Formats: sequence, C-alpha cells, structure tokens
Amino acid sequence: MLKRAIFIGRFQPPHKGHLEVFKKILEEVDELIIGIGSAQESHTIENPFTAGERMLMLSKALAETGIDTSRVHIVPIPDVNNNSLWVSHVISFSPPFSIVYSGNPLVQRLFKEAGFDVRAPPLYNRQEYHGTKIRKHMIEGKRWEHLVPKPVLKIMLEIDAVDRMRDLSKTDYLLKPKRKRQI
Ligand code: NAD
Repeated sequence: MLKRAIFIGRFQPPHKGHLEVFKKILEEVDELIIGIGSAQESHTIENPFTAGERMLMLSKALAETGIDTSRVHIVPIPDVNNNSLWVSHVISFSPPFSIVYSGNPLVQRLFKEAGFDVRAPPLYNRQEYHGTKIRKHMIEGKRWEHLVPKPVLKIMLEIDAVDRMRDLSKTDYLLKPKRKRQI
C-alpha cells in the first residue's frame, strides 16, 4: 500500500532545516503532504507571510533540490479555535495520509490521540535553522540570508520581506501601551 505522510508547519519562512526534513521523509515514504499551518495568518511578526507566498517559497525550493515534485502535495490549513477538532479539520483539507511527522509536541499529541503513526523527524542545526531566529535577525539587520534556500531568498527579496518585517516590528507608542513583544 502507498505510504503517504503529512508534515505541518507555519514555514515563516521555510528554511534549510525544513528542506532536510522533506528529503528525509521522502526516503521513508512514497508521498509527502506539506501542510501550511496557520494559513489564515499574515503580516504579523510571528506570521509575516501569506499562505500563497509560503506556498510559492516551498514549491520553488522543492523544485531546486531535484525532489520529484509529483511525490509532494502542498495544502494550506487554517487554524481552528478548538484543538480537539483540529485533526479532523486537517483531514478535511488534505489528501489522505496515515503517517504524521512533527517535532511540535502539541501536533504529535493530537495526532497520537487520533490513532495516527506519529514520527519525530531529526532536527537539523536547530540553533541556526529556526524561524523565530531568522525573523529576529531580519528585524535587527543581522545576517539571515544563508539560513534559507536560494529560491526562498529570491522570493523574500522580491516581496521586500525585510521592509515588511521592520514595519511590522514598529510600535506606535502614542496609541498602544508598551508590551513585551514575542517574535
Ligand atoms: P514551524 O514552521 O515552527 O515548524 C514546523 C516543523 O518543522 C515542526 O515539526 C518543527 O519541529 C520542524 N522544524 C523546525 N526547525 C527544524 C530544524 N532545524 N530541523 C528539523 N525540523 C525542524 O511550525 P509549527 O508552529 O510547529 O506548525 C504547527 C502548525 O499547526 C501551526 O500552524 C499551528 O497553528 C497548527 N496547529 C493548529 C491547531 C489548531 O488550529 N487548533 C492545533 C495544533 C497545531
């Protein structure tokens, strides 16, 4: 029987660690579904990119690695305000699957309780390949470009991602109370 697995992430932005995970999963299963989580989110510090931008970044990055893209399906998945309903919500948005790869404890927990074969992929250079760190470096003007695949970098430059991040990080202190910001 065909083995099809799902891997869900926010991919804000997709980085080199994600790409290593995709390659590893495709060594173990026939087909991979990449779920773009929090698909309704964009233009916030935690989720700066739209689902469409993330989909473009992922498909261009996959094409460059030489991965057979007929084995990969990308689906946007909006959040729901109820964790216990989320697994059935994901199922309704995705091609059928029996295996779930995730390093996210909540995602692992929810799919385990629903009876799925849940596997934790290895972490690749997590100190560097880390979405939060990349977004922080963009705001602070530090080097981040080497942490994302070249096609992702190209799209981020095209959409002025650094400018977007810096604008999103600005606070109007006259209108908003000062609060600790999560990046
Ligand atoms: P993410 O983009 O931060 O991470 C995606 C995956 O990549 C994770 O499994 C993580 O462990 C892995 N990863 C990150 N860096 C790596 C590296 N260097 N090497 C190897 N693997 C690495 O996304 P996330 O926040 O984990 O995505 C989960 C999504 O599921 C979110 O969109 C969340 O909102 C959604 N979700 C929604 C609900 C709900 O709507 N109720 C419930 C649970 C989860």
